[in-house]
Amino acid sequence: MTIRENIARVRKRIQAAASRARRDPKKIELMAVSKTVSAASICEAYEADIRLFGENRVQEFTAKAAALRDLTQARWHMIGHLQTNKAGSAIALFDGVDSIDSLRLARKLNAAAMQAEKKLPVLIEINIGGEQAKSGVALDSEELNQLLSIGPELTNLEIRGLMALPPYSDDPEQSRPYFRRMREKFDEISNQRLPAVRMDVLSIGMSHDFEIAIEEGATRIRVGTAIFGERKSVRSTA
Ligand SMILES: *Cc1c(COP(=O)(O)O)cnc(C)c1O
Repeated sequence: MTIRENIARVRKRIQAAASRARRDPKKIELMAVSKTVSAASICEAYEADIRLFGENRVQEFTAKAAALRDLTQARWHMIGHLQTNKAGSAIALFDGVDSIDSLRLARKLNAAAMQAEKKLPVLIEINIGGEQAKSGVALDSEELNQLLSIGPELTNLEIRGLMALPPYSDDPEQSRPYFRRMREKFDEISNQRLPAVRMDVLSIGMSHDFEIAIEEGATRIRVGTAIFGERKSVRSTA
């Protein structure tokens, strides 16, 4: 299977899931997760009309970025844990950060964006399974409330939604209750109409469980393996 064929297959699966859920497939954005993937493969995905890419390491993407300069319509988002001391590099490299996992990171990133005179869309990452090994703020935490309440202070960031990664299981149905809780929280925050907080992106669902995520209300899915094939290196978001 070529990358183009894989993408066509993923798009068909999105259509089918959307149709089952009576949702408009155009409201579901496909992000290609290109961590560990070569620049050549990323170019193939771009040729097949992928415009949104997810990367999880500043260092790795720095090395690839030069080879991807011609993909002028591409948007590059950070989806992995970002150390606060890399906030400046992240602002220079990425068009969005989908993994804001602390108040401290939000403030550092905002300061770096201000310095670079940029405005960046961001998502707050929720550690939906309460897992030790994963980053993200807890669902019903004071830190989440604080992040949402300092929206107006984060002049150079736009809080656009939430991202989550449920505990891994071979059975995708196991993700459903986590996705449902995410959707409930997403709607609850939307209804609060907080200043400088816009809830229009709910990023849930990966290669093995994105159909379930679509049924539960995902507006963005993050697909790596089903597009680029199995990654050779160790799976990691750290
Ligand atoms: C690697 C990764 C993905 C993609 O996972 P696949 O199972 O390969 O689709 C999605 N989201 C995050 C945060 C990741 O780190």
